[in-house]
Amino acid sequence: MNETASHCAVVHYAEIGLKGRNRPFFERALARNIERRLSHLGVERVERLTGRLMVWLAEPLPQTTWNEMLRTVCGVAHFAPAYVTAADMESLRAAILDHLPGEAVDSFRIRVRRDDKSFPLTSPEVARELGAVVQQRTGWPVQLKGAALEITVEILRKRAILSLDKLPGPGGLPVGASGRAGLLLSGGIDSPVAGYLALKRGCRLLPIHFHSRPFGNWMGAEARAREIVRALQAYGMDPVLYTVGIGRQQREIAVRAPVAMRVILYRRLMVRIAQALTRQKNGKALFTGESLGQVASQTLESLGVIEEAVTIPVLRPLIAMDKKEIVALAREIGTFSISQMEGDDCCQFLMPRRVITRPQLPAVLAADAAVEMERLVEEALEQVKRIAV
Ligand code: ATP
Ligand code: MG
Repeated sequence: MNETASHCAVVHYAEIGLKGRNRPFFERALARNIERRLSHLGVERVERLTGRLMVWLAEPLPQTTWNEMLRTVCGVAHFAPAYVTAADMESLRAAILDHLPGEAVDSFRIRVRRDDKSFPLTSPEVARELGAVVQQRTGWPVQLKGAALEITVEILRKRAILSLDKLPGPGGLPVGASGRAGLLLSGGIDSPVAGYLALKRGCRLLPIHFHSRPFGNWMGAEARAREIVRALQAYGMDPVLYTVGIGRQQREIAVRAPVAMRVILYRRLMVRIAQALTRQKNGKALFTGESLGQVASQTLESLGVIEEAVTIPVLRPLIAMDKKEIVALAREIGTFSISQMEGDDCCQFLMPRRVITRPQLPAVLAADAAVEMERLVEEALEQVKRIAV
């Protein structure tokens, strides 16, 4: 297909169409996020039409760039670069011939949506007439199901919109529409995917990364977490990362708690700190990349005693996913290769060989008291850094 450029695109949303009285709120959130995503390209306006948005730029944009920009905006079901003409048959005939792809296609169809019911022809009549024009010019066969090229014509009052290539977005809800939440972001494969899924359900995220500063290769781990935030920016993540050096607190836990309990206590420390930080920013939940049974700290017992340390909801979008499915998603969103970068994970710091898989709460609480968890949390909170990504 030839590389055409257009000033505008029609954006369809799926779920936000269903939200009844809240619909304007979701539409505005989506419009805002689209504007933000395209801001460097000079957005003129985002129009709200019935059931869809129309984005206008100052300069025409090639199709591939439209695709690059909009395919990652959460809440977008599908979109199409578009052309606007006057709403009369003569203009439509001219426009459609103007914008046909340069290379032949195996089949085509024309879909007509008529918002302006006062238009003199019915939708099937418009489709038939424009179809005949295209056929006459190209000889391409019409095919109503599974056509290689689908041309959409939308007739509004005073103008018509023509679009040729419908492309998929991620679906879901616009980021921000569901409020704010913390994300426990390690450098691993899982937590970036959990973050992506949270963004896709409309959460504005506060990514929090723990490292073993001042011990070990914490800088590598931090750099990797920053790269992940950068990659997720395309999906609506803010360009900010919170980091917390917990090396000293981990060392205290290593000295003062039973060896097999270390990981559980590291995790309880992390969720407590994350809860405090998230609440400071008016966040309502924590997201993690935990998946049931994947490692010793992710058995039902372990998840239970970790979660017991906080009162904020702990949400785990990957809980029932296989590693294979998680890896496939990580590749799709572009975080998999970043997770392979060098860097010590702080959970490996002072890690014993033997890890408890069925921790019992009374023993955990006793260990918690022995390490003075409350104090460790307070001390670690003084180590919080906000990094611009
Ligand atoms: P990941 O690939 O996300 O690191 P994992 O399979 O390695 O996950 P764990 O290391 O057990 O699993 O971590 C489980 C979850 O705990 C992570 O998905 C993440 O949400 C959180 N977590 C672990 N380590 C850190 C860290 N250093 N900083 C922030 N969150 C962390
Ligand atoms: Mg990890």
